[in-house]
Formats: sequence, C-alpha cells, structure tokens
Amino acid sequence: MRVSFCGVRGSTPSPGPEFVRYGGHTSCVALSHDGEQHRPTLLLDGGTGLRRLPDFLGDHPFRGTLLLTHLHWDHVQGLPFFSSGDHEGALVTLLLPPEDEHTDAEALLARMMSPPFFPIGPHQLRGDWRFGLVSSGTFEAEGFTVVAKEVPHKGGRTFGFRVSDGRSSVAYIPDHCPTALGDGPQGIGPYHEAVLELARDVDLLIHDSHLRAEEVAEEGSFGHAAAEYAVGLGNVAGARRVALFHHRPERTDTEVDRTVCRFAESPVPAIGAAEGTTLAL
Ligand SMILES: [Zn+2]
Ligand SMILES: [Zn+2]
Repeated sequence: MRVSFCGVRGSTPSPGPEFVRYGGHTSCVALSHDGEQHRPTLLLDGGTGLRRLPDFLGDHPFRGTLLLTHLHWDHVQGLPFFSSGDHEGALVTLLLPPEDEHTDAEALLARMMSPPFFPIGPHQLRGDWRFGLVSSGTFEAEGFTVVAKEVPHKGGRTFGFRVSDGRSSVAYIPDHCPTALGDGPQGIGPYHEAVLELARDVDLLIHDSHLRAEEVAEEGSFGHAAAEYAVGLGNVAGARRVALFHHRPERTDTEVDRTVCRFAESPVPAIGAAEGTTLAL
C-alpha cells in the first residue's frame, strides 16, 4: 500500500516560510492500494490536509471511506473544503467515534459544520455521503482490514487504527495521552495493551509526537505524547519504522529536524512525517 501524508500538523494549521518542509496542514493521511495509480480510497482523519486530495485525484471525485480518530478541530476542519468529496460524483462513507449509544453521526458532525459556524451542514455536501460510527474491533473498509482501538486522549472518545492490505500494515495513532494511564518506564507514559496491539510488527507506526520528553511534565495534561514515546513504542512493539506526526503548530522545520535527530541511534528508524510525501510499504 501507499501512505501519503496530506497533513501532519497538530492543533491548528501552520502557514509560513519556517514550516514549508514539514508542511502546515492538519492531520490527514491517504492510503492507496498498490496498482491503483495512486488513487487513495481510505483516508485517516479530515484535517485541513484533505485539501490536498486533488494532488492525487485531479478533478475526479473521491470514492472511498474517511475514518475519523476523533472530532477535534485539527481532525475535521478540512471537511467543508474537501473539494474531491464535495463533488457531484463523490461517494464517501464517513465513520466517526460515537459519544454514546444514542449518537447520530451526521448530527454530531453538524455541531461543528452548520450555520452559524459554517454556511452548510454535512448533508449539503455534493455527492453521495453516508455517515456512520466506528466501534472497537476489526472491520473491512475499501479492501483494507482495519482494527480500531480506543486510546486515552483528552476531551472526547479517540481511536487509533491499524490498517492492513494483507501484505503490509500501518498503525495510525495521531492523538494519544499515555500519561493518563501512569508514568511508564521513562516517565512519559506506559506502553499499554491497546497501542501495543495496534503497533505490533507494523511496517510503519504513525504516532503523536506533539511533545518532547522534557515537555511532558508541564504539558502532558493537554492530551499528547512525546516523540520519545512514539519511538519507544515502535521499539517495544517491533515496528519497522516510526513516523513522528502531529507536530505542534509552532515547531519550525529546524526544530522538527532536531527532534528527529534525537533518534539517530534508535534501533527502529524514525522520520518526521512531511506533508506531500508518500511512503510505499
Ligand atoms: Zn490533534
Ligand atoms: Zn485531539
């Protein structure tokens, strides 16, 4: 499969010359099967990186599934501007985490996308849109096998995903607060069962690296993980590569480079996820 980083930033977009190499769009990763001429059919999160889908589809509509880990702004704000999905020929299944057993997916999404916050609601997007719920467990989507597991974050239910095409696999855990479960071996959170299962032996682990280890004591309560945790999890779980993801908005290209350099000696190779790049697994 191919994994394309359409948006790698956390919290809010970061425009400006000091952010061009890693990119300013918020969380969105596009997955394509081999042999599909690089046409993504499974999207992970709907941050402003959704605006990059025409890079792959040109004027063609998106036809596939959009899985949301959770509903924070940096994971949904691309939706109203998703031109490949807001398209007469689009066929989109959007799945989001329920708040409880009574959740209506479309109504929940409309709380952030409807007047007076935005001129139209989700049901007014052009094309054929279906709204549904993600639940813990294993399911099929667009020919991929997806495992969804709830992970601790802050303010709303949050999932991590493991996606496999039968040959290769990727784990996507963009927002994760491991310290909510304790200090763990290095004081930056334990390597708990849910994330170990998601990341076990994956070809690529894409993980929350909003913080650096020394920032956790002060800022861990905001709901994020340190880059050191991401790489530590990759090592413990046997991942083949780790992509540091969800860079905090003020982290410049130079600063992300410095974070990545910390792991030059790590057994599992670590890269900084960069918008506009694609990895073939
Ligand atoms: Zn986020
Ligand atoms: Zn979040």
